[in-house]
Amino acid sequence: MSFNNLRLIEPILAALSKEGYTTPTPVQQQSIPQILEGRDLLGCAQTGTGKTAAFTIPVLQLMHQHLNHHSGRRRIQTLILTPTRELAIQIGESIKAYGHFLPFKHQVIYGGVSQVPQVQAIRQGVDILVATPGRLMDLMKQNVLHLNDIKYFILDEADRMLDMGFVQDVKRIIAKLPAKKQTLFFSATMPAEIMQLANMLLNNPVKVDVTPVSSTIEAIQQQIYYVDKINKLKLLVHLLKDESIQTMLVFIQMKHHADKLERQLNYYGIPTEAIHGNKVQSARQRALENFKNRKIRVLVATDIAARGIDIDDLSHVLNYDLPNVPETYVHRIGRTGRAGARGIAISFCDWSEKSFLSDIQKLIKKTIPVLKGHPFENSQMHFEPVKAGQGSSNGGMQNGNRNAGRLGSRRGRVFSQA
Ligand code: AMP
Repeated sequence: MSFNNLRLIEPILAALSKEGYTTPTPVQQQSIPQILEGRDLLGCAQTGTGKTAAFTIPVLQLMHQHLNHHSGRRRIQTLILTPTRELAIQIGESIKAYGHFLPFKHQVIYGGVSQVPQVQAIRQGVDILVATPGRLMDLMKQNVLHLNDIKYFILDEADRMLDMGFVQDVKRIIAKLPAKKQTLFFSATMPAEIMQLANMLLNNPVKVDVTPVSSTIEAIQQQIYYVDKINKLKLLVHLLKDESIQTMLVFIQMKHHADKLERQLNYYGIPTEAIHGNKVQSARQRALENFKNRKIRVLVATDIAARGIDIDDLSHVLNYDLPNVPETYVHRIGRTGRAGARGIAISFCDWSEKSFLSDIQKLIKKTIPVLKGHPFENSQMHFEPVKAGQGSSNGGMQNGNRNAGRLGSRRGRVFSQA
């Protein structure tokens, strides 16, 4: 299958060939023809699958087909709502790339920076608006813009909107949209509240599901290192002696731990920066640029700050802490191994994190290999503890039933793999 089979117009085919794309990804193959037919769409796909192009390309084509040269001033016809500034910027870059030979103007708006240039650009007229919910609400309240002319509405990363507490804002924005429009709804997971929102918003949608969780991470080599918490820094410094590790994105749970690890690695002579929610947008953007340009080798990030980070050739992801929500593990390691490239995902695991590891392995339906014999290994962790009240005569049964009583409530959050 090539892009030529998708009945795309010449200016878009030319832009794709300029980008070096030849083959549409599965989400693109499944979504583009349906969107071009005018259908609403419910897409279960996460960052890294090519979903941005899957909605941007057909919407640009539809806009071009309905282009009215005599309509005077530009009106916002397309609204793309996305949870983070980083994602908004990346979507803006995609529109610029795929729409290179088309006459549309787009503007990206997000909070944490001055609104003045954003407002000026909107006043000059735009066709496509990419926005985070908070800034969009602000500008609507100030009457800088209205959404009466929207024909195409894309809600990106709906589940993250929920995680980040934006759902009420999103609902308020939806209430301002015209009833007649084409809606494309993307989410990596489909918890009940997101399904409700989708049902409310979508009109007889086509469903596209390209994220059976385990298959997205098949290309990634995963490894566990059993290590006590106090030895994690030493182990990381030891691993980074390997110069073949050119870039490493390190995930850490707490903001102040991110700052501390940044200081510690720099002390060891490893150029590092940290990004998290307390850093101003310009500092986060700068750190990301420095990482992409290889001015720093390690980027330490909390989950929220790392959302949607798009780095094409990231070789290593490290879970300095294991996440307690197993889907977060999949989101994190999905940052590497993009577009078929080989990625390595390393996870440090101490005693307190062993139950998180077992939840993760249940979700991805695979046992992650444990790397033995490293200098900071806690070799005791290779054995399961014998719990009080369980005699050794239980034998192998004890492991099999270990998690029997654990809450399984999170299982319902992902689409089934059927
Ligand atoms: P996304 O899932 O939208 O964040 O896209 C992930 C990455 O894949 C981005 O860096 C895109 O530029 C890239 N990409 C998207 N579609 C294709 C394609 N058909 N061929 C090659 N790369 C692509």
